[in-house]
Amino acid sequence: MDLKDTPDQAAYRQRVRAWIEEHRHEAPELSSGLHAADPTAFRTWQGTLADAGLVGITWPKEFGGAGLGPIEQVIVSTELRRAGCPGIVDHIAVGNIGPTIFTYGSSAQQERYLGPLLHGDEGWCQLFSEPAAGSDLAGITTRAVAQDDGTWRVTGQKVWTTMAQFADYGMLLARTDPDVPKHRGLTMFLIDMRAAGVTVRPLRQISGAAHFNEVFLDDVELPADAVLGPVDGGWGVAMTTLMFERLALLAAFEELGWSAEDFVEPVADLPAMGDAHVRQRIAELTTELLSLRYSAYRTLTALSRGDVPGPEAGLGKIAIINAGVQASELIVDLLGPAAIDGRWGDLAMEMPGLRSGGGTEEILRTTVGDRVLGLPPEPRVDKDVPFSELTTGKAVAA
Ligand SMILES: Cc1cc2nc3c(=O)[nH]c(=O)nc-3n(C[C@H](O)[C@H](O)[C@H](O)COP(=O)(O)OP(=O)(O)OC[C@H]3O[C@@H](n4cnc5c(N)ncnc54)[C@H](O)[C@@H]3O)c2cc1C
Repeated sequence: MDLKDTPDQAAYRQRVRAWIEEHRHEAPELSSGLHAADPTAFRTWQGTLADAGLVGITWPKEFGGAGLGPIEQVIVSTELRRAGCPGIVDHIAVGNIGPTIFTYGSSAQQERYLGPLLHGDEGWCQLFSEPAAGSDLAGITTRAVAQDDGTWRVTGQKVWTTMAQFADYGMLLARTDPDVPKHRGLTMFLIDMRAAGVTVRPLRQISGAAHFNEVFLDDVELPADAVLGPVDGGWGVAMTTLMFERLALLAAFEELGWSAEDFVEPVADLPAMGDAHVRQRIAELTTELLSLRYSAYRTLTALSRGDVPGPEAGLGKIAIINAGVQASELIVDLLGPAAIDGRWGDLAMEMPGLRSGGGTEEILRTTVGDRVLGLPPEPRVDKDVPFSELTTGKAVAA
């Protein structure tokens, strides 16, 4: 990758930088954690960014995006970060859900939902994982039953639903046909989070924050036009969402809180820097973080040529998270109690959880083994068995 901007990119960077300079006084203070406790001020800021064309950079123009490439997305993220300004708050909405709606949605759904989502006027959450179905997402038991009048009734439970307590709408994966193998018979729905029968319960984390929730769905009625994509074709829709998630994670790399310079800065003047062992740890981590950044740039170059990242991108996620865990632990070791109330203490407590989010390390390694290295695949005894005949499926069929 050419690390210098092309003339067009340099001009774009200049425009973005000038806009940020003019508007940075409108931005709320950067939150200490990965998400704000109350996102209202951040959503207003997201709206300001969206009005300036700085949200949904890679979204097609017809859906309100800027119609640009991943490099421009990185330019915007880098410039916001450089100015100490927050970026978008609804990452899952803009990164995963919106693109799924413009890929699979009817024109009425696109018209209704995409604008307010991009501007942060309506918050969204992703209702996929369940207490007994995370890695094994196709094993979900939340059931949606079609009614004679075309509506649906949904019952089940979701968990780890990020920002659900602040969401107006959710994208929900549910089982519509338990009598076919588990990857079939799933359907994606758009659900109003204020509908009767939806209960959201925040889960308190070790940092004291509550970023995610349990969501209980008790005989919730959904209209016929709540279906997103084909009935019983929800697995393909979910895979599209997860592909967009992978893309969004890569493009947001510069926005995440552990670039090499960033993590050296808070410890550079500490007396502990006189210790050769500490300097060695810092040097190792800095090298690791820089090499990860350049690997991410290589992937971005492939993306900007129109390639879609394959399963090998999972290795990047494992390495980035592990380096982030080690970096935040090292800083907390060096800062001591002073780290507790600050950004680094929060990060050190939140980072280990990210080993699970967006695919666990073990699952990503298995996928790379199967699909990149060509190792013998994991045994999948339940692949062709109707879901209702599996132990987990019994309750759904009953
Ligand atoms: C910060 C964060 C935000 C999240 N946000 C959302 C959200 O907004 N919406 C949503 O739907 N979900 C969300 N999740 C949930 C996330 O997708 C799941 O945590 C993830 O899919 C793993 O599922 P699980 O937690 O049920 O773990 P499990 O699948 O129960 O796994 C437990 C352990 O067993 C291992 N394991 C499981 N199966 C295998 C196997 N076949 N081979 C080897 N090892 C295995 C796993 O690697 C893991 O270590 C979020 C999670 C985190 C951490």
